[in-house]
Amino acid sequence: MSLNNKHSSAAKTVIFTDLDGSLLDPFTYSEAVTSTLVASIVDKGIPLIFCSSKTRAEQEVYRRRMGIADPFIVENGGAIFIKRGYFPFAYQYQRVFGDYHVIELGIAYPEIRERLKEISRQHKLTITGFGDMTPAEIAKLTGLDLASAKLAQEREYEESLHLEDRDIDSILPKIAAAGLTWNRGGKLYGVSGGNDKGRATQMLTRLFRQKLGRIKTIGIGDSSNDLPMLAEVDFPVLVQKPGHGWEEIDLPRLYRVKGEGPRGWTRAIRELTSISGS
Ligand SMILES: [Mg+2]
Repeated sequence: MSLNNKHSSAAKTVIFTDLDGSLLDPFTYSEAVTSTLVASIVDKGIPLIFCSSKTRAEQEVYRRRMGIADPFIVENGGAIFIKRGYFPFAYQYQRVFGDYHVIELGIAYPEIRERLKEISRQHKLTITGFGDMTPAEIAKLTGLDLASAKLAQEREYEESLHLEDRDIDSILPKIAAAGLTWNRGGKLYGVSGGNDKGRATQMLTRLFRQKLGRIKTIGIGDSSNDLPMLAEVDFPVLVQKPGHGWEEIDLPRLYRVKGEGPRGWTRAIRELTSISGS
């Protein structure tokens, strides 16, 4: 699959991407494989939108290192952060944080924690989230280093749960019954107030269309929590998971690119854009 640029030369590319297991290595969270290509994307002024379950604090580390100033979607669509002045027109946002306008789509983290505690109490279940763990425990569970684990705890819109296999069937339905939603991304379950990557992607796509006119959107992910994002883009791409091929995702037009994580990511970008990154 490739874009026929003769027929879409006027359309500007906008890339939405998952981080863990897509742009970043699924085990080390390193950008070593993708960094050259990312630098070319930034050079060409192509918007590269992080759309991840990672927190703002975590994403800012990568954005700084990669020199990316584009908007980004945090905590599975919990909020969109947009640098002031990025879009040269007025749009709605809920709050200002530093230099960012924040469009909030999820409910606040303390409220999610409170509802999870209530479920624990009512059903005498142990539900362990990042808010219950020490940075060292999160580091051990995720493979993050200690400093990154602390940033992963700076949650604003979604709790990350570590569930034992035997507890999954008892806990997830109760989370849904309490009016919360859950998704699975890699090893962890995200629990939020109904946000997902799709609505945030849709809102940003609208803003980019207003700014750039005709656009073609590419979305790249590896897990089921990426499905809502992939469903919103013109060119949805699924990279391979380590060791066992592609996640089972049913979506028309889905391009299952060969290559695990970042290797699939670079292959897809090279095929779908004119960027070579050499
Ligand atoms: Mg992922």
